[in-house]
Amino acid sequence: MKRYAMYPGSFDPITLGHVDIIERAAQLFDHVYVVISVNPSKIKPFFSLEERVNFAKLSLAHIPNVTVDCHQGFVYQYALAKGCCTLIRGLRTLTDYQSENQLFDFNYQLSNKKIDTIALFADSKHVFLSSSIVKEILTFGGDISPYVPKVILPLIYEKK
Ligand code: ADP
Repeated sequence: MKRYAMYPGSFDPITLGHVDIIERAAQLFDHVYVVISVNPSKIKPFFSLEERVNFAKLSLAHIPNVTVDCHQGFVYQYALAKGCCTLIRGLRTLTDYQSENQLFDFNYQLSNKKIDTIALFADSKHVFLSSSIVKEILTFGGDISPYVPKVILPLIYEKK
């Protein structure tokens, strides 16, 4: 039986921390669906859905068993529709732990316990890296090259 997992997130934009989690998840599962989800509780994203999908596709093109798309609505429903029983999430700090635990329970209960979550610990190199930090550095004209995949840098700078 093939094992499929889904990694949902805002990915606004995708960072090297996300890529690391996806590379590791792709070793654990036959296929990983990276899903750019629309998160109504977050303020308006910096990058459009199309841009974020494009950034993720370019950044993950080297991993054969990963596909990227987007979805609006309940992630657990989309996961079930794609044949996934597992959601992947990344854990950086204790702050992540609380929100990730809550999100796990939400998806677990709403899916009648069909959807479980596996959290992978962030590599220490990426523990303090977030899409928000990247956007902040970008806004103030700083160098984001240590934080995002090289292939998307020109596209990000173009937007700015
Ligand atoms: P969301 O809006 O769903 O939190 P994000 O794109 O911010 O979307 O994050 C998606 C997932 O990736 C979350 O589980 C988050 O904790 C994890 N993540 C974010 N940045 C990193 C990082 N630097 N290293 C590991 N995991 C990360």
